[in-house]
Amino acid sequence: MLENGSPPEITAWAVRRFACWRLLATTQFGMEGCALIDMLAHTGSQVEVVYLDTQFFFAETYALRDRLVERYPSITFRNEGSPLSVADQAATYGDELWRRDPDACCELRKVAPMRRVMERTDVWITGLRRGQSAARGELQAVQWDWRFDVLKINPLARWSRSDVWRYVQEREVPFNPLHEREYPSIGCVHCTKPVPGSSIGEYSREGRWAETEKTECGLHLGENI
Ligand code: SF4
Repeated sequence: MLENGSPPEITAWAVRRFACWRLLATTQFGMEGCALIDMLAHTGSQVEVVYLDTQFFFAETYALRDRLVERYPSITFRNEGSPLSVADQAATYGDELWRRDPDACCELRKVAPMRRVMERTDVWITGLRRGQSAARGELQAVQWDWRFDVLKINPLARWSRSDVWRYVQEREVPFNPLHEREYPSIGCVHCTKPVPGSSIGEYSREGRWAETEKTECGLHLGENI
């Protein structure tokens, strides 16, 4: 059922099956995350959705977060981003760390805060898909995450970007307007560029950390994805 079930069915199963466990979902408000939030809300359960505000989100991302909070009252949205201010980061690690050492910047603003979240988590629901990158190609609907030692559930694993886009349109799920402006994947302002010629129903990570070898922030890595 888990391999062949639809994403809403897998999401509903996970919320029901692990109701007594420490369960949460995470998102950084990409289109997949928005679809997942809609599926979670559809279960009728009170579910916690954690995001990590890097303090470098686009203005459109903050506005989207506010729209989602309003649209889905059964979801508890919680920011677990680092409290380190941009000024303190610059004072301690130097200006524009994201330019000089993006892995260190992601560690401070994403990976370390997520490690703290995972210390109090048993079951982690994500909006990851196999088609997002080669590194995510082996993604299973349910698998153990050895990096954070939690059960990881990826209801959208088998879906394509066009499946997600169709779902978002049919259910009128709020999504980031940057997707309509050639941003297939959206992260921090300093590390995300538009991908000219891309369409909203197609996914690409080309615009993330463009001109570097980096492809992942470090939250989802290799076989531990
Ligand atoms: S994506 Fe860029 S700005 Fe955001 S945390 Fe990583 S390196 Fe820093």
